[in-house]
Amino acid sequence: MQVTRRQFFKVCAAGVSSSSLVALGFSPTAALAEVRNFKLARATETRSTCPYCSVSCGLLIYSMGDKAKNAHSEIIHIEGDPDHPVNRGTLCPKGAGLLDFVHSESRISWDEAFTGIAKLMKEDRDTNFVARNQEGTTVNRWLSTGFLAASASSDETGYLTHKVVRSLGMLAFDNQARV
Ligand code: SF4
Repeated sequence: MQVTRRQFFKVCAAGVSSSSLVALGFSPTAALAEVRNFKLARATETRSTCPYCSVSCGLLIYSMGDKAKNAHSEIIHIEGDPDHPVNRGTLCPKGAGLLDFVHSESRISWDEAFTGIAKLMKEDRDTNFVARNQEGTTVNRWLSTGFLAASASSDETGYLTHKVVRSLGMLAFDNQARV
């Protein structure tokens, strides 16, 4: 391999400085770990649940920003919750990629999602709702839209979701945990 004079001096300088630092007690591994700890020490830690599948692994979500008015809060790191009985700190590749999911360019806001879904549901229900069957019996069915509930929801959320969906007349209703 050809090494230029400039490359040779660069390699020698790097070798001398790194061996000197190690001699002084600076282990690169320890130094890198300290940087990571310091970064997370100033972050807000929030417990959550992975939204992808019915295993429902526990998460620790770290964000910067103190949530003061006009302050911009941003999620900077997500990892498995070591205290969670389901996953004990581990995450599968989907869960390990959650930070990209959170910061995806194609992600829309909650307001956009909520308004858009409500609009589509109303349009479909107004068009396809069946109040009475052919015999004239009241049935109040809405068969053209289905609902898939999230398995990471609490019992209380599940109860309320069931009440809302059934009160709209929707019959196609399932849970992610069964899929
Ligand atoms: S981390 Fe993987 S296994 Fe765990 S809930 Fe998320 S998708 Fe499911």
